[in-house]
Amino acid sequence: MLIALKRFLLVFLILLVPLFSKPWGFFAHKRVNRVAVFTLPTELMSFYKEHLEYITEHAVDPDKRRYAIVEEAPRHYIDIDHYGEEPFEKVPRKWLEAIDKFTEDTLQAYGIVPWHVQRMYFRLVKAFEQKDKAYILKVSADIGHYIGDAHVPLHTTENYNGQLTNQKGIHGFWESRLPELFAEDYDYFVGKATFIRSPLDHIWDAVEDSHAAVDSVLDFERILTDHYPSDRKYGYEERGASTVKTYSRDFSAEYHEMMSGMVERRMRAAIITVGSFWYSAWVEAGKPKLEENIPPKDLQTLEEEQKELEAKFRSEAIKGREHDQ
Ligand SMILES: [Zn+2]
Repeated sequence: MLIALKRFLLVFLILLVPLFSKPWGFFAHKRVNRVAVFTLPTELMSFYKEHLEYITEHAVDPDKRRYAIVEEAPRHYIDIDHYGEEPFEKVPRKWLEAIDKFTEDTLQAYGIVPWHVQRMYFRLVKAFEQKDKAYILKVSADIGHYIGDAHVPLHTTENYNGQLTNQKGIHGFWESRLPELFAEDYDYFVGKATFIRSPLDHIWDAVEDSHAAVDSVLDFERILTDHYPSDRKYGYEERGASTVKTYSRDFSAEYHEMMSGMVERRMRAAIITVGSFWYSAWVEAGKPKLEENIPPKDLQTLEEEQKELEAKFRSEAIKGREHDQ
């Protein structure tokens, strides 16, 4: 009886834990925000460096917020192929024009990441103008996340988890499993942040580049799966107290190889874009000096907000669409 129960629990645990995945892995988001700090000019870098742990750890807040707020989910993606052939021709880049053409409900239903990045950018400029350092840090960490998501090919398609092509699990495979296995070897020297004249166009260009890679992401996985012994595609790994079914290391390595650096290129592009958005917001705000310490009261407010977020993240089911499994 006891053995049967144990076996049941084990199977249950394995089934319950999804194919190992967290959005653009928590790992990759943190890495993107952290490295972006080092693209900044010295004057600005010293402020961010002082709060390097904050910028790194809070790179994943927006994903946690998806457990607390129902409007959060569509901010992380845009299913651009919902709009048919040549979607980038059809969907106006400007929010109000896009609403006029498709209604806000439709835009929200299929994702709003480029517009949300623009909104965050405006907030960041304002935060710099007001020299509100706690808010600068919070918005910087957030915008880094959304920019990161915009660089992930599967954040730009309705087939975001391969669910339409019998490739379920590919979302977490590409953005979590691969970076966790291979991102230590990536080259993170991405150069210096530059001023972005049109943040909206810049982020749309990033979405276009991401979307151009969708076919390869899916096709290579399919080709490899067709040629791969099915019993070697997945393996089991210990993660803390649970055993998790995940893509095997060999399969992951071969897939990674086939894409010849795509994950690394998208991560590098995300890093320089994040740095350039921070830098541009600071320039646009008139390059305020930020040397004094953050007033303790502000930091306390941020921490309280964070505690609330953590509690929801741990206790509640995700609201809106599950984009990462
Ligand atoms: Zn996300």
